[in-house]
Amino acid sequence: MVRVTGCRLPPAPEDTGFRLAVIMKTITDDDIDRVALDLDSTLAATSLTAFELLGTPEYTYDDIESWSWGLNKFGKERYLNAMWHAWTIRPTDVPVMEAGLPETVSEMRDHATVDVVTAHPENEAISNGKKQWLDHIGIGYNDFVPVTSGKAELGYDAYVDDKPALPGEVAEKNPEATSFVIDHQYNQNIEAPHVRVGGVSNTI
Ligand SMILES: [Mg+2]
Repeated sequence: MVRVTGCRLPPAPEDTGFRLAVIMKTITDDDIDRVALDLDSTLAATSLTAFELLGTPEYTYDDIESWSWGLNKFGKERYLNAMWHAWTIRPTDVPVMEAGLPETVSEMRDHATVDVVTAHPENEAISNGKKQWLDHIGIGYNDFVPVTSGKAELGYDAYVDDKPALPGEVAEKNPEATSFVIDHQYNQNIEAPHVRVGGVSNTI
C-alpha cells in the first residue's frame, strides 16, 4: 500500500489522486452537495516547509506523532509562526500532499460545490499565500473560506480534513454531515463517526 506523506514534484504516477479519489466515489454515490475541503496537511504539506523554516528539514509527517507534537517540540508560538510564515514567505515552495490534486478536485467539483475551508489567524497575507499556492498548483475551487474557529457549524454536507477533533465537532453540531479524515499518524483513535481515507490503515 502506498502511503503518501508529502512529496515534491514529480510524484509517482501510481500515487495519482490516491486519497481524494476515494472520497470522490462517496460524493458521487451519496447526496453530498457542499464539501469543505481543508488545505493545511490535506492538500498542502505545510509542515514540511515549516520544518525547513524551523531549521529541521529532516523531519517529515511520519515524525508528527500527535496533534500537539509540533507545539511541544518547538514551542507553540515558534511552531505556529513557522506554519503561517510558510504561507507568507514561501507559498509556492509548499509541497503537495498527494499527486493529481488538480484533476481530482476538478472531478470532485463535477459532483459537488467544493470550498477550500481553512483555519488560520485573521491575516490577509496568509490567505493570499494560500490562494497563490492553489493557483500555482492549479487546484480550482468554488469559494475560499478562511476561518479562525470551528468549521462544523458552517453546515457543509461533507468535511475533508486531517484534524482529529473535527469529526467529534461535526457529530455534535452537524450530525448529518460526513467527516472524511485524511490518514495521518496524529489522527488515529477518533471515536466520532468518520471515514478514513488513504494510507495503510484505510478502512474503506
Ligand atoms: Mg488541516
